[in-house]
Amino acid sequence: MQLELRSAHVHGAGNERRPLAALCEDEPHVHGELTWTIGERRVPCMGLWGPDDVCLGEWWDELTGAVAALSDRQPYTLDSCEQGDPAFLFERTDASIHLSIVAGMGGGDPHPEWQNAEFAWDDLGAALRRFKHDLRQLLALKGPPTLPEEWEKRFSERV
Ligand SMILES: [Zn+2]
Repeated sequence: MQLELRSAHVHGAGNERRPLAALCEDEPHVHGELTWTIGERRVPCMGLWGPDDVCLGEWWDELTGAVAALSDRQPYTLDSCEQGDPAFLFERTDASIHLSIVAGMGGGDPHPEWQNAEFAWDDLGAALRRFKHDLRQLLALKGPPTLPEEWEKRFSERV
């Protein structure tokens, strides 16, 4: 299993893509290409306006929540609730995680080819740590000197 941050931009009004330096309190959404592959297959349905428009703050928060829940062996549902989006169901059995793309609150359909896709539990934490590291580095390099509060909060979390 691999999670790779390939690009990031600021999601502006409408569907405008702005450079990371434009990140501010009024436009705090960092979107980008976050490629998640399980067994050579790329996980679909993650982006809003295409696969390179994943809401990175949302995935940061949701994957953090997923790892916490799965640590306690609770299942976790990642649902953006956006119209037409399905949801991602994580279930753990000891050393394995099973991912299923299921019906979302926003009306998205389950994905028949993505039911119980299996990967190692250890890989999830490692992939999340790497994603967070890469995004921090990218924002340090190309972001504004002062980050919006929600990002300061994310970056100050205990690792
Ligand atoms: Zn967003």
